[in-house]
Amino acid sequence: MNAALNADLHCHSVVSDGTLTPEELALRAKAQGVQLWALTDHDEIGGQARAAAAAAACGLDYLTGVEISVSFLHQTVHIVGLGFDATDAQLIQGLKQTRGGRAERAKEMSADLARIGIKGTFEGALKYVGNPDLISRTHFARYLVETGVCKDTYEVFRKYLTEGKPGYVEHRWASLKDAVHWITEAGGVAVIAHPARYKFSANEELALFTEFKGHGGLGVEVVTGSHSAAESQSYAATAQEFGLAASRGSDFHSPEESRTELGALPALPTGLTPVWALLTERIQHPAV
Ligand code: AMP
Ligand code: MN
Ligand code: MN
Ligand code: MN
Repeated sequence: MNAALNADLHCHSVVSDGTLTPEELALRAKAQGVQLWALTDHDEIGGQARAAAAAAACGLDYLTGVEISVSFLHQTVHIVGLGFDATDAQLIQGLKQTRGGRAERAKEMSADLARIGIKGTFEGALKYVGNPDLISRTHFARYLVETGVCKDTYEVFRKYLTEGKPGYVEHRWASLKDAVHWITEAGGVAVIAHPARYKFSANEELALFTEFKGHGGLGVEVVTGSHSAAESQSYAATAQEFGLAASRGSDFHSPEESRTELGALPALPTGLTPVWALLTERIQHPAV
């Protein structure tokens, strides 16, 4: 299948930590020239039916999507799932379990920030939450920008909410094995999201890719809004080394905050198998 296709297989709606609805995203993706789209909310597929219907209505090919939070070697790794059956009971239950504990974590984050004098962040973050099951660090970041603590969300994640910084609370997410199995057993393809963002040693990264493959994972994001051109080249080589298909996605969250627009990404480097070539049967085409 066409490696130069304008596929954008990673973005977020109000169902997780994006600011646009699934319908607004579909229209925006279409207007930006996206040809194949997936909505990949964090730990939640409640927006999938709306996204698929909106994609069909504006003439856009669609793959179901999700981005699952995983704990691996004391870091959080994100695994994108594409092309699964969104009614799969095991996947739905696994995601519900993964979302659990976010509210308690958020209260602890708020208490930690209060200790350094930044008060009321739990209530503040809640104003930005579109899905009560999915309060995330992004919602805290928006509140810290609103109240002038930081100038933008990038500054928030440099100074707060990340490991070693105020407001960071370690959390136990899904296991790598479970996340890959939930996606794969629901008929989808599991993909390692934005690999350059993790702070693994070379050996730890090798362990991530080896175990991911061992559990049945088939893809890696090579071109993403989180990668520089050099990082994309580097993970193109990793994809080839591990025999993984390559994915492409902006990780778009918001017109105000995101540096990468929907669909506005370089093409996949040549010589790679695009992940959509593994999913031709799973693509939902609009009726003609
Ligand atoms: P959570 O799932 O609550 O841990 O929130 C993670 C989200 O925070 C990510 O999906 C991003 O949308 C956002 N984020 C932005 N910058 C960073 C960063 N430097 N580190 C972690 N998360 C970030
Ligand atoms: Mn996010
Ligand atoms: Mn991510
Ligand atoms: Mn994402």
